[in-house]
Amino acid sequence: MKADRDVIIIGAGAAGLTAAQYVARANLNVLLLEELAPGGQCLIIDNLENYPGFPDPLPGVELSQKFEEQAVRFGVDIQTSSAHSVSKKNGLFQVDTDNGPLTSPTVILATGAKHKKLGIPGEEEFSGRGVSYCATCDGPFFKGKRMLVAGGGDAACDEALFLAKLTDQVVMIHRRDRFRAQKALAERTLNNPNIEVRWNTEPKVIKGSAKVEEVVLWNNEKDETYSEKVEAVFVFIGSIPQTQVAKELKVELDEAGYIVTNQRMETNIPGFFAIGDVRSTPFRQLVVAAGEGAIAAHAASQFIDELKGEAYV
Ligand code: NAP
Repeated sequence: MKADRDVIIIGAGAAGLTAAQYVARANLNVLLLEELAPGGQCLIIDNLENYPGFPDPLPGVELSQKFEEQAVRFGVDIQTSSAHSVSKKNGLFQVDTDNGPLTSPTVILATGAKHKKLGIPGEEEFSGRGVSYCATCDGPFFKGKRMLVAGGGDAACDEALFLAKLTDQVVMIHRRDRFRAQKALAERTLNNPNIEVRWNTEPKVIKGSAKVEEVVLWNNEKDETYSEKVEAVFVFIGSIPQTQVAKELKVELDEAGYIVTNQRMETNIPGFFAIGDVRSTPFRQLVVAAGEGAIAAHAASQFIDELKGEAYV
């Protein structure tokens, strides 16, 4: 049974790039598939403050480039291609890609998660015209303007703090009366003079003509509805794990739809691993994703060693 590769990794964020580097260094034949540019979520982080080894704030785009350079230096083959589905055929995984089917005895899924939408009137209509899911990308267009941030997790706080460097008029709304974000981040957000936090507040409609002009807000405690003039609405209300590619394999998911693995990043399907933001984990961080990449690479390499004693060549 001859496979195209030893390991196919789907998704080149911090998790996938680290896994690829470790697999290549174990002298295995690895292919890393990425439909966009390598780097994943890291690419849109303004400044990283908590990635170990970099004491000064580090632009996410720079760290992404370093991840990629290092993987390429160890011989990782990175291809720009979408993986559409993974199935199991004759003892091997078959990954259907833009460039045709490819086979391997192991697959590491590192497809991450995509931003959740509010699902309110005006959100789709004004997407790219004031509605945004990336402060680093779109914030500079609204320098000095009044902006709304929706959400209460780490992402919402991080991004509100970034926007507060561009304007002194950030209105941040959260649907309940305390942040979900880590304590230090939540405190920095609350103490920032350029951010006005409004608790128990939900967006209901986004309005405008050519661009966003106002948002209808609802105070769910007082049951009051009012309009707020803003020029941009930034939405950070969590993520949806990108598991579609593994649907055919019937990989086990948790109640929120993230892939369940053991400590070795193994899913319920032997030879199929999941790492990074697509995996069920209590703490999603870049450094955690990179660590999971290293663990999966090691486990995949052991899995292949065992197979080589059997049928796989
Ligand atoms: P998250 O932790 O799931 O938080 C989502 C926030 O959005 C919650 O506050 C939630 O409210 C709110 N929300 C959810 N659905 C909503 C809706 N329909 N309408 C209004 N509000 C809604 O998501 P995240 O902030 O994107 O973070 C995702 C993961 O990445 C987390 O594990 C986080 O730790 C990590 N991360 C870390 C950093 C960092 O360390 N600097 C930065 C970014 C992300 P409730 O609180 O009421 O549920």
